[in-house]
Amino acid sequence: MSSYDLVVIGTGPGGYVCAIRAAQLGMKVAVIEKRATHGGTCLNVGCIPSKALLHASELYEEAGHGFAGMGINVKPELDLSKMLAFKDEGVKGNVQGVEFLLKKNKIDAFHGAGRISASGKVDITPLNGGEAKTLEAKSIVIATGSDVIRLPGIEIDEKQIVSSTGALELSTVPNKMLIVGGGIIGLELGSVWRRLGSEVLVVEYLDRIIPGMDGEVAKQFQRILDKQGVKFKLGHKVTEVEKNAKGVTAVVEPAAGGAPERIDADVVLVAIGRMPYTEGLGLEDVGVKLDNKRRVMVDAHYKTSVDGIYAIGDVIAGPMLAHKAEDEGVALAELLAGQAGHVNYDVIPNVIYTYPEVASVGRTEEELKEAGVAYASGKFPFTANGRAKVNRTTEGFVKVLADAKTDRVLGVHIVGPDAGTMIAEAAVLMEFGGSAEDLARTCHAHPTLTEAVKEAALAVGKRALHI
Ligand SMILES: Cc1cc2nc3c(=O)[nH]c(=O)nc-3n(C[C@H](O)[C@H](O)[C@H](O)COP(=O)(O)OP(=O)(O)OC[C@H]3O[C@@H](n4cnc5c(N)ncnc54)[C@H](O)[C@@H]3O)c2cc1C
Repeated sequence: MSSYDLVVIGTGPGGYVCAIRAAQLGMKVAVIEKRATHGGTCLNVGCIPSKALLHASELYEEAGHGFAGMGINVKPELDLSKMLAFKDEGVKGNVQGVEFLLKKNKIDAFHGAGRISASGKVDITPLNGGEAKTLEAKSIVIATGSDVIRLPGIEIDEKQIVSSTGALELSTVPNKMLIVGGGIIGLELGSVWRRLGSEVLVVEYLDRIIPGMDGEVAKQFQRILDKQGVKFKLGHKVTEVEKNAKGVTAVVEPAAGGAPERIDADVVLVAIGRMPYTEGLGLEDVGVKLDNKRRVMVDAHYKTSVDGIYAIGDVIAGPMLAHKAEDEGVALAELLAGQAGHVNYDVIPNVIYTYPEVASVGRTEEELKEAGVAYASGKFPFTANGRAKVNRTTEGFVKVLADAKTDRVLGVHIVGPDAGTMIAEAAVLMEFGGSAEDLARTCHAHPTLTEAVKEAALAVGKRALHI
């Protein structure tokens, strides 16, 4: 039996990063992955392929609708199979990158399903029926991620009724796509297929999209998507989807009750969220406790209810984001090495990679009101930003929320071009406990979109310059 300091189950962003950091700190590390490739949901069927299609479809749309205004006359023609191959190539490059990093850090990688048979022991059932193995470990990390939440009675076939995974693989552009769920994944993939020619309808149970994000941002974002042609049915739920010769028919009812209607589509995308994935790990047998949402329960140091067994990433509580999983991986490896690993959960950025992008870090206005925190708000629209004007990308705004007494920045919310990149400066500022004044007094290059962030910070003190 091979023996390790650390065995990590799952090589998504949480697992592989934890393994690398542990190896850097001198531990003997093994990883177990049941997919053929490393990188987890994020690299294989999540962040990376969705961003490849968002990038390609954005350029396609820009070529068709934006180029002529800049004096570039072209008539783009879609080659969908090539676009999908472009996406697959991007995924391949990334998963191979993880394989290289594991090797470089002398981490033993096993392909197969891992199951914890006892504290300190993990059994591996190889993928293709090879010989089973058991690894011994001082510490075991559960980094098995999450899976799609399904709707009862609606079977996902990944062709006509798809999850995000199937929506990354459609071989033809559907004429009509109905999306169940107005969250990040539904809106990103809806944007892709709308740009490529689909009529997109989003059915959302709540009376708003992107729940959890700032309400003003959500309203503005919905208006922008609406103008782009994405249709919304808020306060409604999909109760049934029937397949028929022509496509699919969804039964849609008001969430508050009322007469159902039948809506035809070619493809239905179920994007109502993700749930922790703990199947086949043997957790009940070893006594690892789950909470009422089936997430692995951990303490502040990622230890489960069993000594020597830890968990990180989507499988535990918190935002289901790749960078949150990665940071937990690093923190846990450092804690296991006797260092002071830590994740600041108040400063985890959240980005929607549509056009324009939406990005936020810290608290929303709704959260601050609910917590009774007195705050000042500064807002600046991209219509007043020189670079956005010349680029004709003026939709959206930046909003900075700062403590009314101390001026410390508590939240930053951006709808606008490149918001996902710009949010990083807000995250750094907040990590260092910076104030709106600090941000406002930091010199920002001209002409850049980031000047809108500085102006929003100036607006907190009611002294924005360019509006
Ligand atoms: C379409 C889509 C787009 C997304 N876009 C973004 C984005 O832009 N930005 C962002 O931050 N997040 C995004 N996410 C979320 C992101 O993918 C997850 O938050 C992230 O992958 C979580 O990492 P993880 O390491 O916890 O788990 P995962 O990435 O899910 O990895 C877990 C791994 O464990 C393996 N595994 C499970 N059980 C076993 C077992 N018993 N034995 C061996 N291996 C096992 C699985 O095969 C999997 O490879 C997106 C998700 C989706 C679906």
